[in-house]
Amino acid sequence: MIGSAADRQALEAKVKSLPTSPGIYQFKSDGGAVLYVGKAQNLRSRVRQYFGGGDGRHQIPVLMDRVADVDVLATANVKEALLLENELIKRHKPVFNVKLRDDKQYLALRIDPRDEWPRISSVRRFRKDGADYFGPYTSSVALKESLSNLRRLFPLRSCSDGTFKDYARRGRPCIEYEMGRCLGPCCGLADPEVYADQVRGTTLFLRGRSDELVQRLRGQMQAASEAERFEEAARLRNRIEAVAHTLMEQQIVSDQKLERDVFGLARLGGEVEIQVLHVREGRVIAADDYSFSKVQIDDGEVMSSFLGQYYGKKDGRSAPREIVGSVVFDDGGGLEELLRERASHRVAIKTPQRGAAKRMVEIATRNAQIGLDQRLAARESVEAAMEEIRSECALARMPNRIECYDVSNLQGTLAVASRVVFEEGVPVKSAYRRYRIKQAAAGDDYACLGEVLGRRLARVETEALPDLLMVDGGRGQLGVVTAALEDAGLTVDTLGISKERDTESPSPRVKRSGGLKAERLFKPGRANAILLAKSSRGLLLLQRVRDESHRFAIEYQRDLRSKFGLRSILEELPGIGAIKRRALLKQLGSLRAVREASKAQLAAVSGVSGRDAETIHDFFARMAKVDEGPALPESGSGEGGPGGEDPRG
Ligand code: SF4
Repeated sequence: MIGSAADRQALEAKVKSLPTSPGIYQFKSDGGAVLYVGKAQNLRSRVRQYFGGGDGRHQIPVLMDRVADVDVLATANVKEALLLENELIKRHKPVFNVKLRDDKQYLALRIDPRDEWPRISSVRRFRKDGADYFGPYTSSVALKESLSNLRRLFPLRSCSDGTFKDYARRGRPCIEYEMGRCLGPCCGLADPEVYADQVRGTTLFLRGRSDELVQRLRGQMQAASEAERFEEAARLRNRIEAVAHTLMEQQIVSDQKLERDVFGLARLGGEVEIQVLHVREGRVIAADDYSFSKVQIDDGEVMSSFLGQYYGKKDGRSAPREIVGSVVFDDGGGLEELLRERASHRVAIKTPQRGAAKRMVEIATRNAQIGLDQRLAARESVEAAMEEIRSECALARMPNRIECYDVSNLQGTLAVASRVVFEEGVPVKSAYRRYRIKQAAAGDDYACLGEVLGRRLARVETEALPDLLMVDGGRGQLGVVTAALEDAGLTVDTLGISKERDTESPSPRVKRSGGLKAERLFKPGRANAILLAKSSRGLLLLQRVRDESHRFAIEYQRDLRSKFGLRSILEELPGIGAIKRRALLKQLGSLRAVREASKAQLAAVSGVSGRDAETIHDFFARMAKVDEGPALPESGSGEGGPGGEDPRG
């Protein structure tokens, strides 16, 4: 506790007079900042534990040393306290609370059996809208894998309602039908009963009720074979095999057929790792882990707060019937009550002492420990990398937070820029931004970069500068950064990173590394480029940041391309207007033909000059190169409007 003896006495007197009802308490600092929010069944006795020192929590003194005041809000019950606690954690982001990061989005599959022709779609939240939801899937890779398994097993439509109507109008089904992955209901090719059966099969499969599903399929296969519908029987046999194969790939952890989420926690000082296993029908169908740093509260408080946030959102995850974990906490049954209300079924939170549930908790805890060990090892290596960058590039500060910018255009069209942010070597996706260039000419990379930096630096009051501002490029780009900073009257360490050009004679270091092109780092005021060894941790970190920034810019450009369509983009190419575009399409027959045409074929189109032909040819060549680039990792939805600045998580 801080403050004078009189202040402390006043605070202790306040604690003694707190109500004994359930509610939330907020510890505040001298300046009134909320340091910690907790919930309690009995506010007075809970808060007194902290002040009495008999709390037994390790590291609590760090919190209590800073507490100058405590405020409480009484609630009718613990369930309400839980809701309020979540709200206040979200609002105040207290430094001593564990905060479940919202940018870790989860995904789910949705089927609405009430639709005439139900479809499976991936969604980002569970809603109470009468549809069936399955998941959560913690990565889009896991979700895509599950969807592709499903499409192999159950040929339900995957198209949106708009596409469905579109194909219905055309009177012919899409390629999904040709590939046997849809029964073609859009064109009246599907038998409603057969389709409904596929919906039931999908639901059973996703619920993990595999035995029931296989039994049903066997029954249908037998019936088909007895009726001498051998083709159908063979199809059903293949489906049974595919289901069995898919199920084999999921690890069996229990012969009990329960729905269970299993939580394991590992800790080293203030570093905490929580692993979650989603077990359905005895199989682990998904797993995920969460990391927290600088945690000062004890494990019980961590777990109770974590679960409150994990399941506590209104449109949040659907809780299974059983939640098990190794950490004991007592919230007076508030969370169970809240989850029961939301899930419309009983939810039990347990700490198993024996049997399959205990073994699952051990698995989750072991995995949490592995995750924690890996994270700490990675952090050591990141710290070494940052130290190397700082010393080799003579930076004024340790590059804990790095911002990197990249500009990209396609032959003078679709000029965009990206900003990515890394903190202690980890991407902070919620701080990513993508920019559509508003004023600079699309082909002028320096002007585009200047525009974006001007926009960024104008917001320095609401968003502090990073420790290191980096740009994908050499001296020219770095000059733009320096000028933008000077204009804004700001100072920050800056670096440019670029690959040695083909025309340049390789440096001795390049020769040593087997002739590969070296990365060069540029720093204002330094005549020569800084060359770090190819295997240097520092260089690898900077390359990672630069590559991510490049990937993010290209991803935006692709999004825009699909939004505006190639036809209209063609018109934006310098020198190509609507008339030339029409001539190209008319004389070559299609956009595809334009795309695949040689320079000579393009130049042969009346009204198209040799220079136009070159522009168009280079445009498509560059586009093909971009498309061949590294596979894009998952991304959220949403578009940055033209000229917009768009945060992407
Ligand atoms: S075949 Fe028809 S219903 Fe099936 S996915 Fe294609 S458009 Fe949709």
